[in-house]
Amino acid sequence: MILSNTVEGVLFDIDDTLVDTRGAFAHAMNVIAGKYLPGVGVAEQPKVLELWRADPSGYYRAYTRGEMTAREQRMARANQLHETFGGRNLSDDDFEVWDAEFMAAFRAGWKPFDESRTVIDTLRSRGYRVGALTNAGLALQTEKMRVCGLSDVDVLVTLDTFGVGKPDPRVFQEATRLLGTEPGVTAYVGDEPDIDALAALGAGLGAGIWVDRPGARRGGAHTEDPAAVARAGISTITSLTELL
Ligand SMILES: [Mg+2]
Repeated sequence: MILSNTVEGVLFDIDDTLVDTRGAFAHAMNVIAGKYLPGVGVAEQPKVLELWRADPSGYYRAYTRGEMTAREQRMARANQLHETFGGRNLSDDDFEVWDAEFMAAFRAGWKPFDESRTVIDTLRSRGYRVGALTNAGLALQTEKMRVCGLSDVDVLVTLDTFGVGKPDPRVFQEATRLLGTEPGVTAYVGDEPDIDALAALGAGLGAGIWVDRPGARRGGAHTEDPAAVARAGISTITSLTELL
């Protein structure tokens, strides 16, 4: 059984766990490539998405450590993308326009995974407390959860709470406090083992679960070795329905 009998609360990551963020980024990157990267053909488009998600320079993680703003990390990644795929360097003013186009396309692509709604409802009907703990900002995630029809979770803890995100143990402890369950009887479910399940165990949570959807790994420096993850005591699932 994935959720042991002692578990009373389940905290979910949002991006690529409850929400198909990769799909939304795919849509956004196709729009961006069409406008800014004329040398990229249809066959090459998946590589644009791959680089965006791999974030090889770790700009997004620098943001989650409080070292860059959300805008700074996006601009750095936009220019890295342009440099790699033959686009022009974006000035501050250029980036204003780029970012508006990117965010509009990203938002238009927001969708929950097919099973997210059912899994949340079923867990609740079985008496579990259910919350979300995410490494993005409050305004963005509140809107994303609303658009995806998931805004009724009991708790939403974001990067704004402490100005830093996972893997900092404080965010896991604060999320369980707000959820009203002791850390030892709370499970965390997320798609990035190092900052999700492994960090949750490190923060004293009772269980860490890796949702390893087919074809969704990021590659690069991300911790995605199933054997190493299993040795650390993490359970792996390929769909949230396996929680049930
Ligand atoms: Mg995620």
